[in-house]
Amino acid sequence: MKLTINKNSAKWMQLPRDVLVGHGVLEEIGDVCRDLKMKGNALIVTGSTTKNIAGKRVSNLLESAGCSAETVLTCKATTEDVEKVVEKALEVKANFLLGVGSGRSIDLAKLASTRLELPFISVPTAASHDGIASSRASIVDNGRSTSAEAQAPIAVIADTEIISAAPFRFLAAGCGDIISNYTAVLDWELAGRLRNEYFGAYAAALSRMAARVIIECADSIKPEHETSARLVVKALVSNGVAMSIAGSSRPASGSEHMFSHALDKIAPKPALHGEQCGVGTIMMMYLHGGNWQEIREALKKIGAPVNAEELGIEDKYIIEALLHAHSIRPERYTILGSGLNPSAAEKVARITKVIN
Ligand SMILES: [Zn+2]
Repeated sequence: MKLTINKNSAKWMQLPRDVLVGHGVLEEIGDVCRDLKMKGNALIVTGSTTKNIAGKRVSNLLESAGCSAETVLTCKATTEDVEKVVEKALEVKANFLLGVGSGRSIDLAKLASTRLELPFISVPTAASHDGIASSRASIVDNGRSTSAEAQAPIAVIADTEIISAAPFRFLAAGCGDIISNYTAVLDWELAGRLRNEYFGAYAAALSRMAARVIIECADSIKPEHETSARLVVKALVSNGVAMSIAGSSRPASGSEHMFSHALDKIAPKPALHGEQCGVGTIMMMYLHGGNWQEIREALKKIGAPVNAEELGIEDKYIIEALLHAHSIRPERYTILGSGLNPSAAEKVARITKVIN
């Protein structure tokens, strides 16, 4: 009898192998490399600020663990920057890469290592979005920000001493990125019903749980509290896991993310990804007929933006982004359907107090 593999049921879930979260875990980086049998030449991808926060220490720690460590500094995350990291990695004959920073450095290390077929370690210095543990990366291609498929990190080293010392705005943005799971899952369910798209109940439940934990703990998420950093990092890692289980970013990215991507394109000075996603969640939850007030309250308690003014974005760009959001990823069906009309866009933004 010939065995046939059902392509819909076969899944390849790529997850990080070692995840370290806690006070001072950066010091364990040598042990992580030993555990993962990673030796030889390391290439550290970092920014000019994050180099001083953690990049140099990572370099010293790797050298005392017997590796040689080179550093490449980045300032943007464009396809040309990925190219620059790839070239540097080839020049120093890197055996593995490390992304040390908030978002950009991790995304660059993720994409370059995927291209080079080398492992990479994610060392976040802030907890502002779920890319720290996921297999997706944001990249600017031809002036347009897109989300690209890449490999997941082989290890995540999230030192809460460093993360809690980062500006609180980053952590609050991370909460917005997690809370957005609520509308992402509702959009996914909708696509399951209206487009017969695959819907993964397990990944959806995991994703909802992370958002629920953040909403329930909103009162206790405070600046400079390491316990807050720990909670948010764990939820962000869990988001990466949910996406890996789903085999797509569906559990953590729906209409609210499309709104944020539209703002990135339209607004002269966009806010942080997670901040925009949080505000998007309030509005998309209204469109879904859900409890948008609960989302708004939680974001307010945490200290994340809940309206255009707090995002530092003019009302007209919010409306424009609402009108364009559905066209950002046309293949991804969401509550936005084939788009809002101008009066509906203004209505959702006004009712949810995003504009006034
Ligand atoms: Zn996100």
